[in-house]
Amino acid sequence: RTVYVNGNFLPEEEATVSVFDRGFLFADAIYEVTSVLDGKLIDFSGHMTRLHRSLDALGMAMPMKDADLLAIHRELVSRNALSEGLVYLQISRGAEDRDFAFPGPDVPPTVVLFTQEKQIIESALVKRGQKVITTDDLRWRRCDIKTVQLLWASIVKNEAKAKGADDAWMVRDGYVTEGSSNNAYIVTTDGTIVTRDISNDILAGITRTAVLKCAAEIGVTVEERAFTVAEAKAAREAFSTSATGFVTPVIAIDGEPVGDGKPGPVAARLREIYIEMSRAAAI
Ligand code: PMP
Repeated sequence: RTVYVNGNFLPEEEATVSVFDRGFLFADAIYEVTSVLDGKLIDFSGHMTRLHRSLDALGMAMPMKDADLLAIHRELVSRNALSEGLVYLQISRGAEDRDFAFPGPDVPPTVVLFTQEKQIIESALVKRGQKVITTDDLRWRRCDIKTVQLLWASIVKNEAKAKGADDAWMVRDGYVTEGSSNNAYIVTTDGTIVTRDISNDILAGITRTAVLKCAAEIGVTVEERAFTVAEAKAAREAFSTSATGFVTPVIAIDGEPVGDGKPGPVAARLREIYIEMSRAAAI
């Protein structure tokens, strides 16, 4: 695989980052993940908008223009002959002798990009549906910033796997926040889609924005509000959204089937429309 590090395209074996990189020492870094279909980027401008927001929130400068980042994304897709999968973009505050205080403005950020092949369209998990567990959301209170501080998400994902499930829905004060790396939704018995409203408690998914537009297009009512675990267990359907999984049905919560325990029609329809819409707008 060819990866990008600070201005260079290199074989992954030759790519290195300093041991003093603040991403490594302090998780002082942010990232974005853009999906690729037919060798084209899905909703790149949405990901760039969120990237700017994450950088602003942490007082980090944009390392280069959006157009330059786009060119690097495309170059990596092309060099790796990536037809379907993901492009990861990671930006840390750079490397300097270890100190909690931020380095001065002369320290350049570390910019890394790499690709990952993934079958997103033909997904076994989408066909089967995910089983999720519920668990405490013990993350920090700025989940709206897409930082690389992913340890709690990693721990709960691991807990889910250990219990024979696929993912964990995190819960704060009795209400579901989101999945380990996706936004969470239910479809109530009257057919309304409910997903948590945007706040510091969740990441504003780029896929979430697009999927809510798809829902409006097919005339499904959407309520952006918090929902409880009990509400989710009594729902007709449940699903999650992310750039890495698009729309993925949830068929069980804590071992209890959601609805009839099979992937639901609303999730399937939204997935179809989302893919169609994204393909048409890919760059
Ligand atoms: N929430 C969290 C915690 C995530 O890590 C992700 C994936 N980046 C999402 C939601 C979904 O965001 P997106 O649709 O932009 O991939």
